Amino acid sequence: MLFNFHTYHIDEVFCLLNVDMDKRLDDYPHQVKLSVGIHPWKVNDGWEKTFENVSNVARKDEVWAIGECGLDKVRGEAFSRQMEAFKAHIHLSESVEKPLIIHCVKAVDEVLALRHALNLRCKKTAKEPQPWVIHGFRGKPEQAKQLMTKGLLLSFGHQYNIETLREVFTSCRPFFLETDDLPLSVRQIYAQVAHHLDVDVGRIEHLCDPLQTIFRQRAF
Ligand SMILES: [Zn+2]
Repeated sequence: MLFNFHTYHIDEVFCLLNVDMDKRLDDYPHQVKLSVGIHPWKVNDGWEKTFENVSNVARKDEVWAIGECGLDKVRGEAFSRQMEAFKAHIHLSESVEKPLIIHCVKAVDEVLALRHALNLRCKKTAKEPQPWVIHGFRGKPEQAKQLMTKGLLLSFGHQYNIETLREVFTSCRPFFLETDDLPLSVRQIYAQVAHHLDVDVGRIEHLCDPLQTIFRQRAF
């Protein structure tokens, strides 16, 4: 099945729509699954208030993931505040037991350090940490390997490093595909990825279906 892992526009296929916290959740069609969070570009002065709203809706059935949230050293609010907000999202993801969708620009070391700390905390309580997915991943193969070793997953948009895509594909780990803010269907990204990997789209559909992996318990 085709699945658009991260989008700001409702796709013709199954999609995880990133919600704008200014809107009411009821404004979205019922069948659409949502992710809720505060983008690192938007952790402004009143972010704590917005985050209360995020926390209030995070347990709803139609909310499948927390995010996008994260760290961006190129754009956005003060890094210390981004960090504070990101930690709050990590905590929320663990407490509602929903995966985290991460926006990460030039902050891989910080994300890895936070994941490492979470892995240790979870180990103590014999709890499985929630999946973390870096969305719109454009990094090099070495970086992808580093992230995957710590248990992170990757989602690719229309622009990615082809070598990295091949690396992830041969690692046999699941990965996801997304359109992000582009007004197109993820169908095109599936076709592009299948072409770059020289395999059938069916194979990509199987591999990139989060209903078989991180959303398995939600598949019905
Ligand atoms: Zn993003």
